[in-house]
Amino acid sequence: MVQAYQIIDHVYDAVVVGAGGSGLRAAMGIAEAGLKTACITKVFPTRSHTVAAQGGIAAALGNMGPDHWTWHMYDTVKGSDWLGDQDAIEYLCREAPAAVYELEHFGVPFSRTEAGRIYQRPFGGMMQNMGAGPPAQRTCAAADRTGHAMLHALYQQSLKYSCDFYIEYFAIDLIMVNGKCKGVIALNMEDGSIHRFRSHQTVLATGGYGRCYFSATSAHTSTGDGGGMAIRAGVAMQDMEFVQFHPTGIYGAGVLITEGARGEGGYLTNSKGERFMERYAPSAKDLASRDVVSRSMAMEIREGRGVGAEGDHIHLHLNHIDASVLAQRLPGISETAKVFAGVDVTKAPIPVVPTVHYNMGGIPTNYHGEVVTLKDGNPDQVVPGLFAVGEAACVSVHGANRLGSNSLIDLVVFGRATAHRIANIQKANAPHQKLPADNADFALGRLDGFRHAKGGSSTAEVRLAMQKTMQANAGVFRTSEILDEGVRKIDAVYQRMADIGTSDRSMVFNTDLIETLELDNMIGQAVLTMHMARNRHESRGAHMHEDFPNRDDDQWMVHSLGWFRDGAVELAKRPVHTYTLSDEIEYIKPKARTY
Ligand SMILES: Cc1cc2nc3c(=O)[nH]c(=O)nc-3n(C[C@H](O)[C@H](O)[C@H](O)COP(=O)(O)OP(=O)(O)OC[C@H]3O[C@@H](n4cnc5c(N)ncnc54)[C@H](O)[C@@H]3O)c2cc1C
Repeated sequence: MVQAYQIIDHVYDAVVVGAGGSGLRAAMGIAEAGLKTACITKVFPTRSHTVAAQGGIAAALGNMGPDHWTWHMYDTVKGSDWLGDQDAIEYLCREAPAAVYELEHFGVPFSRTEAGRIYQRPFGGMMQNMGAGPPAQRTCAAADRTGHAMLHALYQQSLKYSCDFYIEYFAIDLIMVNGKCKGVIALNMEDGSIHRFRSHQTVLATGGYGRCYFSATSAHTSTGDGGGMAIRAGVAMQDMEFVQFHPTGIYGAGVLITEGARGEGGYLTNSKGERFMERYAPSAKDLASRDVVSRSMAMEIREGRGVGAEGDHIHLHLNHIDASVLAQRLPGISETAKVFAGVDVTKAPIPVVPTVHYNMGGIPTNYHGEVVTLKDGNPDQVVPGLFAVGEAACVSVHGANRLGSNSLIDLVVFGRATAHRIANIQKANAPHQKLPADNADFALGRLDGFRHAKGGSSTAEVRLAMQKTMQANAGVFRTSEILDEGVRKIDAVYQRMADIGTSDRSMVFNTDLIETLELDNMIGQAVLTMHMARNRHESRGAHMHEDFPNRDDDQWMVHSLGWFRDGAVELAKRPVHTYTLSDEIEYIKPKARTY
């Protein structure tokens, strides 16, 4: 069966899967170091989800007021609800200014201050003076199209180096030999040819898995393919229960209205016209961190103070802001509100509701981007030849809750760190060992199986069942009852994968096949998210468990780890790194998290 597929071979020092902000920054840096590099991407690079990022990228430049990287670090640790690894957070915040200046020199057209410096806006949870306040203006922005500007600049830069791009190639599975990664098998979607990329170092930069949920701000391509490949390669995923809901997705459409809208002075009201955030977060108000704002909105809706005919959403006001400021600082979202909600933001509030936005969990790595797993009692055992960066990874700098504008900076800082590490450990043109004869069988067996699947459930039906289950049972509020039911339901959805039926048997742009492979990547992560959420008996960051309403540092200041093998989940724990990298900053001790 599997022999029926011809394989085209490629040989590289390093292969990056994904051409979003993190993949491009890694690929560029590896190629710059003189290694033979390929970048494989299922969509054209500038269509990666990074293009949709609006609000900005955090770095303590201090252009608009006092700031320091240690303040950024404090806020990130606090935002993570003390689940982030402090060595990695130190690395992120310390390197952030250099990474932003690098982007500036790459040609990102940042908005400017009067003095010509990079413009910075306030964002939720970003404060001065080690959390004491007032708010820090730390988020560097190119109007409300920061991700768009970044992605185009990074793609242009990467073309400068001799990195080979394989565009509209779908990576199916890693080639694993005795626990080491030796490359990846991919499908050229345009002509159906199969490609084997042999590489000494493989980087997964495939983005998040937001599309496990019914309503998400992320692109339809955010299907966690890297996570799926890692799970099948036997890697334990980390902290999957922490799913960020963005407070302001447009009601009905799910499209994002950036937090920058509140950064520029926007505020939320309930059906009584009250600015309710004053009650939940007296000092930060509408700019409290995302989990806090999302939960407050959900509370208002639950207690009958939602707006609209069904009382199931909230209003976001920008209409008091000067029209010229809206046109200059928030042109994109003004247009989005018009198209998706029919609202003129200068005159009326936007209907919004908390919507899935970001996955804090993912493939565990150290701050060099190397994938780590728990093996023989060592929680930081490096998986040779395998790296992960960006939203696919869990470094972990975001812990239980990511602060807005901390993802874009994570992409470039750790994309760069990964390139540095690979340049350090990998010689150019090193010979490749012979691979076992069956190296492509696993990937091709899956491909062929789905291509000819004759079961009774269509991919769309199973996907919808998964998305509805995740939305209903792993949402903003969780209880033991809801999560027990969620585990039963998601396990049952997984069973339906054996009954999948596809109808297109061709190899050329077979979207039926691609969507089925994507579903297969998502389902393992959906199952792990639900099981890990049920397992964590506390409330921390984005995981709000009503039967265990408090944070429990004694029992639960630990990362969750989970394997998913042959339909069975196995959970374990991994210690949080409670040490910093240098003695310029001490370990930031846990405190109650209030805003
Ligand atoms: C609407 C929106 C707005 C946001 N705004 C901000 C913001 O203002 N500030 C901020 O810090 N963060 C923001 N975020 C979060 C941030 O943008 C994302 O976390 C980040 O862009 C993810 O980048 P990435 O490099 O990990 O992957 P992505 O940009 O998601 O790219 C994934 C890449 O992987 C490739 N790929 C995936 N699977 C395969 C496969 N099987 N084979 C081959 N290629 C594959 C894709 O083709 C793509 O190139 C926002 C997110 C959204 C959804």
